[in-house]
Amino acid sequence: MVLPLPQRPQSGYRGRFAPSPSGLLHFGSLISALASYLHARSQQGKWLVRIEDIDPPREQAGASSAILKTLEAFGLHWDEEVLYQSRQTQVYLDVLAYLKEQNLSYFCQCTRAEIKAAGGIYPGICKAQDHPPQGSAIRLINSAGHYQYQDIFQGTISCDPALAREDFILLRKDGLFAYQLAVVVDDICQGISHVIRGCDLLDPTARQLSFYHILDRPSPQYGHVPLAVTNEGYKLSKQNKAPAIDNQRPQPALVAALTFLGQEPPSELLPTSVEEIISWATTHWNLDKVPRKQQIILPE
Ligand code: GLU
Repeated sequence: MVLPLPQRPQSGYRGRFAPSPSGLLHFGSLISALASYLHARSQQGKWLVRIEDIDPPREQAGASSAILKTLEAFGLHWDEEVLYQSRQTQVYLDVLAYLKEQNLSYFCQCTRAEIKAAGGIYPGICKAQDHPPQGSAIRLINSAGHYQYQDIFQGTISCDPALAREDFILLRKDGLFAYQLAVVVDDICQGISHVIRGCDLLDPTARQLSFYHILDRPSPQYGHVPLAVTNEGYKLSKQNKAPAIDNQRPQPALVAALTFLGQEPPSELLPTSVEEIISWATTHWNLDKVPRKQQIILPE
């Protein structure tokens, strides 16, 4: 069996924004969307959108279309068709079948409590056992264990080697596909060359790099922009009910996001149109100005 995934196109920048529809876009998501858009457009690259709707219990009704409307209102127009992960089921199943056939994965029946008792990092208990698929999770045999990489904005990133070596989950016991499986498979399917996103995903990137290595496919380049956090140090997230950004007044949020990203937008930009702001930002995008910080506290 050969890996049922396409080869990456030989050349050309292909970036993407991949929101989960567990809520509406907030200021933190706007920063990631804008940074990935500007980095792509400033290099005449393509910018794609993927809706990461693989977790129906956490999905908010109507969020996918609301997110797309917000991106349009903010002048972030994408290329090609939006990819919905909920329509990728067969591709994920084919990749899982390939990994099993190649002895690159195993079924696991351990409970959370058992893993906690073993120290929190999965020690491979089920690897030597031949569990049936029913009621099992699927874990990748993580022979790569990448824990260091070069980040476009943050320089050298070093993650906890033990965590990076863990045989991580590809299919959950409840039958849902895991983020690590879907994100890597879809970045390969969409031919993504550059992944620009928030610093909350610094650690998962190490796992994703291991997965590319095991699949024998070139990985994209990764760049993580600082995370917007509240005064109390919480990241803005859909889970902690960060306020949604206002589609009716995109200009102030765009200018604030550019300021956050260190781009020093001139004050004359504020009263102009969304198109003018995006056009200024694309022309002036300077990655050296993005703060080399993993998080920044938002002013009250
Ligand atoms: N869907 C993830 C999120 O909304 C982002 C995934 C990614 O950029 O790789 O947090």
